[in-house]
Amino acid sequence: MSSAMPRHTKIISTLGPASNNRDTIAALIEAGTDVVRLNFSHGEHDGHRKVVALVRQEAERQGKQVAILQDLQGPRIRVGAVQEGAVTLPEGAEVTLSAFRSPEDISSEKHIYISYDALAYDLAVGGQILIDDGRLVLAVTSIAGEDVQARVEVGGLLKSRKGVNLPRVRTSGPALTEKDLADLEVGIDLNVDWIALSFVRNETDVVHLRKHLKAAGHRAGIIAKIEKPEAFESIDDILAVSNGIMVARGDLGIEMPMSSIPHAQKTIIHKCLLAGKPVITATQMLESMIENHAPTRAEASDVANAVLDGTDAVMLSGETAVGAHPAHVVKAMARIIRSAEEHWYALPQRSRGLPEGLSSIEDFQDVTDAVSLTACELAAHVGARALVCLTASGTTARALARHRPQMPVYAFTDSPHVIGQVGVLWGTKAFQIPFQSDTDAGVRLVQQTLVSKGYIRSGDTIVICAGMPLPRKGRTNLVHVSYVD
Ligand code: PEP
Repeated sequence: MSSAMPRHTKIISTLGPASNNRDTIAALIEAGTDVVRLNFSHGEHDGHRKVVALVRQEAERQGKQVAILQDLQGPRIRVGAVQEGAVTLPEGAEVTLSAFRSPEDISSEKHIYISYDALAYDLAVGGQILIDDGRLVLAVTSIAGEDVQARVEVGGLLKSRKGVNLPRVRTSGPALTEKDLADLEVGIDLNVDWIALSFVRNETDVVHLRKHLKAAGHRAGIIAKIEKPEAFESIDDILAVSNGIMVARGDLGIEMPMSSIPHAQKTIIHKCLLAGKPVITATQMLESMIENHAPTRAEASDVANAVLDGTDAVMLSGETAVGAHPAHVVKAMARIIRSAEEHWYALPQRSRGLPEGLSSIEDFQDVTDAVSLTACELAAHVGARALVCLTASGTTARALARHRPQMPVYAFTDSPHVIGQVGVLWGTKAFQIPFQSDTDAGVRLVQQTLVSKGYIRSGDTIVICAGMPLPRKGRTNLVHVSYVD
């Protein structure tokens, strides 16, 4: 690989107290952040508004496109306030748990209040209650009325507002809480590009969010966060109604045996590649860099393996939100990605592990899909510098990207919506251009834009896909080999 080969796998940086200021945002973008994630489990609306403005100003100043992803908390279950902020739960102790009903419900070492109304109905004797990322483990011994009795199996410090996981419990309740609805209003107002929905259980949860977006006339893409076993079991149905998926390994690793996470990650990525929808691999990718200057060997391998699995994007959470050196982590991640991609492209095509069912034109019924595969093959054959599509909806960009071509994909569109969508899409940059009705003029504009940005130069060959006559929405039917004058 020449050092000029661009990085294909996108980087998502979560903003938080360590990074929600202008200088750090500027440094994160400069270091290679493609998408910022606003975690609405934390922070105030005004803070999120301020940060979005900073990101947009800094992206514009640096001439970069940075998409905004709003992450909704969803029906996350939490412990309420704890006496004096924290109490110790000794191993072997018996405790009572009940649903948090009023501000007077302060948890102690004897009685723990949890923000889940159906606690006593949905739990069963023998079930587990995991608190604070599974640091505390309780086993249900009996249930009487509204109260659940449990024994502390793994003890420790119980702190206020820590998350609770109920593995193997099919939780009831709405997909969007009142808080989510209020947060969603802010996201819509801020015109975010993506909305990630936490604790998705099935496709209905996603459809529910889609209805809210439609009613508001907003076109943000929906990322379903797969962090519950039942969501993993329903992945095909969830994928069918979502615009993208996040392998949310943090909660998934609590609710499912940790040993099954690598398999879940690979399965989900594989399915997303087949569906031609972007997938994000998230959580603890470079966790030790929250404090340290260098990742562990295992972390470097984890990021590289996610790239080799075929993920579109990798996500940083605490590393950039609360870590000691957010931009340095992004640079480290970018280096690992480049190296992994370099080795991946050095492999023969058949050894790259792309799913069966994407490699032959017979695999595709849809004309856009068939043309996109042809364009990728042709681009490789003629040694094209870039693959280009003129796209109204972004569909062709996704259809190209899923073949993981070695050259960059440049999506030209008159829709600002597509620019944001491309943020999480593997190997793709987007450019907003005026509506084109003439193919030759469109090709000229593509060439001029890419030459002026230094992405191509005279003597290069590029391969362009479009729908003829322009703009032919929903059907890409043209592959054009274009020589740059
Ligand atoms: C996760 O659980 O991996 C995740 C990304 O979700 P959150 O950071 O919101 O807990």
